Amino acid sequence: MLENSKLSLSPGAIIGILGGGQLGRMSALAAARLGFRCHIFTPENNSPASHVAFKTTIANYEDQDALRSFANESDVITYEFENIPIETALFLERLKPIYPSPSILAISQHRGSEKKFATDHGIKVAPYELVTNYTELERAITKLKTPSILKTCRFGYDGKGQEKLSDPNSAKKAWEKLATNDAILEQFVEFEKEISVIIARNNNGALEAYPPVENQHENHILAITLAPAKIEEATAKQALEIARTLAEALDLIGILAIEMFVLTNGQVVMNELAPRPHNSGHWSQDGAVTCQFEQFIRAISGQCLGSTKLVKTTKMVNLIGDAVNDWPKYLGTLNAKVHLYGKAETKPGRKMGHVNFID
Ligand code: AMP
Repeated sequence: MLENSKLSLSPGAIIGILGGGQLGRMSALAAARLGFRCHIFTPENNSPASHVAFKTTIANYEDQDALRSFANESDVITYEFENIPIETALFLERLKPIYPSPSILAISQHRGSEKKFATDHGIKVAPYELVTNYTELERAITKLKTPSILKTCRFGYDGKGQEKLSDPNSAKKAWEKLATNDAILEQFVEFEKEISVIIARNNNGALEAYPPVENQHENHILAITLAPAKIEEATAKQALEIARTLAEALDLIGILAIEMFVLTNGQVVMNELAPRPHNSGHWSQDGAVTCQFEQFIRAISGQCLGSTKLVKTTKMVNLIGDAVNDWPKYLGTLNAKVHLYGKAETKPGRKMGHVNFID
């Protein structure tokens, strides 16, 4: 690993970003405002981030020659989604600083590691069992009971790779459908609300967290975020404490999103981690002093962090699939800020943009 704990980039420096999606796009836009240039590395043609980047390399994540050139041209490297092969991150780490560190990426790529890391640091998660075959699943159901949720440990997102088990009889079909030997069975949490906290930490150990926000899902995809979350102060305090504990224990440099459940008794339980900007932080583009994308860029470039203060109560609505066709209506709506991702093709379930309704 390179020793570069006090990296401090100046305007003009190049930030390499693995992944070309909307999170990379909005990060590159924020980086440009601070005078940085972004180099996107993605296997995809015509990616959303490439439209606004200084440079794009289109290559596979396994292409070592392309990765080497990308690293040579970058002053710091980061990623905009978790499913980058860990070998790619480890290869790049030998050439240039990569933040958040590959060790954090590895933890966030596996639901079991994520939950173990959390519980090792005193954070509550839904009771769970790791399962690698059908017999283990049956045993796990006996222990955790139903309803429960069976999830693949890797590569799940937006409800993909998970099946709810309403009763033990649904186990066989779910197991066959997921077709994996690396899964987790989680007890179904009767939560009152889903919330998330986004926290940033820089290479001086400074921490700044955004206020907890409330997330509403439709078909397992985030549909709406309300900032701030309407929760008790004590609940917000618990959520922020979880975020702080994780950021410090992970020795985070960068940004980390933590999805959590609030139980009816007010207790907060961690669900998932993402060491990158997060959909539930998009409200901050129009509702906070510093948006999550700028904060992310500040953190990885070795700058001081910005204020995470909420200045306007904001409702973020995702434009999923055909809903994006309503963008002209939102452009004409007072207090609505439209953000489109430039995706060439609209598909059902695909995040095409979002609207922030402020105040
Ligand atoms: P995940 O991919 O883990 O974020 O799960 C997607 C969504 O499924 C969450 O946002 C929750 O709405 C729901 N979910 C996941 N795990 C559980 C659980 N253990 N109990 C209840 N609902 C869950």
